[in-house]
Amino acid sequence: MQYDHILIRYGEMALKGKNIKQFIIRLQENIQDKLRDFSNIKVKRTQGRMFILLNGHDPEPIINKCKNIFGIQSLSLAIKVKNDPEKIKEASLYALKKGKNVKTFKVSVKRINKDFPIPSQEMNQVLGKHLLTNTEGISVDVHEPDLEIKVEIRLEAAYITSSVVQGLGGLPVGTSGKSLLLLSGGIDSPVAGYLAMKRGVHIEAIHFHSPPFTSERAKQKVLDLAQQLTKYGKSINVHIVPFTKLQQEIFREMPNEYAMTIMRRMMMRISERVCHSQEILSMTTGENLGQVASQTMESMNTINEVTNYPIIRPLIAMDKTEIIKISREIGTYETSILPYEDCCTIFVPKSPKTKPKREKANLFEARTDFTDSLEEAVNGIETIKITAKTNQCAYEDLF
Ligand code: ATP
Ligand code: MG
Repeated sequence: MQYDHILIRYGEMALKGKNIKQFIIRLQENIQDKLRDFSNIKVKRTQGRMFILLNGHDPEPIINKCKNIFGIQSLSLAIKVKNDPEKIKEASLYALKKGKNVKTFKVSVKRINKDFPIPSQEMNQVLGKHLLTNTEGISVDVHEPDLEIKVEIRLEAAYITSSVVQGLGGLPVGTSGKSLLLLSGGIDSPVAGYLAMKRGVHIEAIHFHSPPFTSERAKQKVLDLAQQLTKYGKSINVHIVPFTKLQQEIFREMPNEYAMTIMRRMMMRISERVCHSQEILSMTTGENLGQVASQTMESMNTINEVTNYPIIRPLIAMDKTEIIKISREIGTYETSILPYEDCCTIFVPKSPKTKPKREKANLFEARTDFTDSLEEAVNGIETIKITAKTNQCAYEDLF
């Protein structure tokens, strides 16, 4: 006897009404895709849940992969047996013996198949007794057991599951369309990308790069961050914008205190062009109210003027400590804190305007024709596809 299935519960998705079918199919595809390296594995849908058929594979690496898939609420190892009381007893005992450091247990039987001759309550007692007589030093605790053995007697078979492993929750990536993530090398924007993905968004990334002021290593850092984000979704296209000329022009021609605001407006304009060409309907940034000069309400208002695309700002209300916590959990923190320069830190104006105004930004911009440099930047975009590696795993040690 051994665990031969993994039971997948998808919780919140059950509330999604008409879209539910599409969500479930996408989740099934996403799971299949992440497990494509394991031969012979099947992902099956049944009412309200999914099962992975292990076909002899070690469940541990598979569970670890599933822990990074949005849309999975929780998972459990399961054994499928015939609707036969003796088989169910045997499987329950196996599940109990497989538990680590178990001193107390509880059995919960759910009889969905009313043709099964023993009612749930009675079956609870039958199994409890069987487990107590076949083990030593273990007792029943119905309130706070170390291990709960769940038995579901369904039409086709009975499933025996024990410990519950938490999943990431959220919605399956790809069910909420695409967004263009403005990805710097900092701590915030990768976290923003992760949180957008959590709501089912597939992301592409755009990065503004200013060689030789920003180095190849700074660019590689951004590609590495994108690679880390693929753990939670699919391959990510990263659009690298050659920003040097436009940025120099801005800092040469514009009043120093407005240069940063206008640089951000240019970033938005270029991002919108990429959205348009890639059929992306929104942008996502790591902006967070009140952190720095570019992130005051006035600043956001002035920068936002140049686009009417929705901008998703998942971090807007978070404290820095909360952002750092997520960044550590998702594995991007160590890369983010590498000290390579960013285009925004190289050209820092001496005294950026913390309360810029739309009218002034428009007035200053009208003095210089940026068209050529802007077109040059757009035409020079290099797109790099970051493929999800099949051997990555975020939390190797949790199981
Ligand atoms: P982060 O930690 O993400 O770098 P930050 O706290 O440094 O953010 P800002 O420098 O004001 O804040 O940047 C705000 C947002 O603008 C970033 O979160 C990111 O989405 C975007 N951004 C900044 N610089 C770049 C860049 N070089 N390329 C792409 N997007 C950028
Ligand atoms: Mg930054």
